[in-house]
Amino acid sequence: MHELSVAMSIVDIADEYASNASATVVNEIEIEVGQLSGVIMDALKFAMDVATKDTILENASCKYIRIDGLSRCRDCTYEFETDNLFTPCPKCQSYRQEIIRGKELRIRSLTVE
Ligand SMILES: [Zn+2]
Repeated sequence: MHELSVAMSIVDIADEYASNASATVVNEIEIEVGQLSGVIMDALKFAMDVATKDTILENASCKYIRIDGLSRCRDCTYEFETDNLFTPCPKCQSYRQEIIRGKELRIRSLTVE
């Protein structure tokens, strides 16, 4: 499962951050998940439950923030929300578009003590 390796790298990053900050407990972690990142939110939540076991994140509360996808049409510059890469521009039906938001997959914040 792709999400499990994502979850494990989130744990690695958090672990490294916490030890740099000499923290022993992570209280909360906020994770941004772009709709176009290729990661399925529910699968990531499940994977995080598994990946955080016996780690510094075990008792942390995980918050997930969904970032909606936003594309810009290369032909008419119209911007529109999308949840996939295969939707034509609603204005001119062009498939030439660039993603301007929604590929994010990152830790937004980490609360340690
Ligand atoms: Zn267009």
